[in-house]
Amino acid sequence: MTRIDDISTPRRTKEIIQRHGFSFKKSLGQNFLIDQNILFKIVEAADLDKEKGALEIGPGIGALTEKLAQTANRVTAVEIDQRLIPILQEVLEPYPNVSVHHGDVLKVDLHELFRNYFSGVSKVSVVANLPYYVTTPILMKLLEEKLPLENIVVMIQKEVAVRMAASPGSKDYGSLSIAVQYYSEPKLVCTVPHTVFIPQPNVESAVIRLKVRDKPPVEVDDEKHFFEVVHASFAQRRKTIANNLKSRFFPGEGRERLEQLLQEAEIEPSRRGETLSIEEYARLSSVLLRAGVR
Ligand code: SAM
Repeated sequence: MTRIDDISTPRRTKEIIQRHGFSFKKSLGQNFLIDQNILFKIVEAADLDKEKGALEIGPGIGALTEKLAQTANRVTAVEIDQRLIPILQEVLEPYPNVSVHHGDVLKVDLHELFRNYFSGVSKVSVVANLPYYVTTPILMKLLEEKLPLENIVVMIQKEVAVRMAASPGSKDYGSLSIAVQYYSEPKLVCTVPHTVFIPQPNVESAVIRLKVRDKPPVEVDDEKHFFEVVHASFAQRRKTIANNLKSRFFPGEGRERLEQLLQEAEIEPSRRGETLSIEEYARLSSVLLRAGVR
């Protein structure tokens, strides 16, 4: 349902920005969406309905928020830039199902936010055009805090989206792929041209959907140890897994012992970290833990 005065038309966006004397802050990743089609695509990918809730991070002047308000039961948006709050209040005035919070999403108690705003809704998804300078910390916070989320649908830098969705053996596969895939099933929704933003970002963009898992795809005895093994294995991409793990877990002697443990986990010591599946990392972490290697 495209309305002529929809906030995302370039003309209306410019009018609001000028009337409020708003200037974009590059340091806050402010690239606003001005294209109806892409807004619809993002909302569609989140699979919302009138029973569900949406958490938006960085509503800007409310272009996506408005679409979410029309589609979901309830919308809560967290915006760091105080200058945008009066604009959001004006733009979102027709939507009583939206609440806007001023704050840094990395510092907000999201569990409390959920208790306060989403207690009556069936499922909640995060839907956002994220500030690119903090994409990974925001997504890792959402996933690691184990919030009861259905989907996370976000516009992010294309290169980061490709890394999140990468499979073992690809040059883009790394610790970020494993962390994201441990908590969710990522799917690239679409790539996006620069022209849908104002101002235009100088990197390529893509929309990705992370379908949040009920439980991880592998059983891990100690998550902290599992992720330490993963990080250590990618410390230097050109090194073998044995060399990387040696630097982290056996800094002095112990090469033979490490190779034995790798064999026990059925992993050839000459392989590189980027070839191991998430199952192999889980197995390796559990063999190392049993041997007291932490
Ligand atoms: N959703 C709007 C749109 O699509 O037009 C704006 C998206 S813009 C890429 C990112 C937004 O996130 C900006 O409004 C910015 O002020 C806000 N932001 C940046 N860092 C933030 C943080 N740590 N917490 C909450 N919002 C943040």
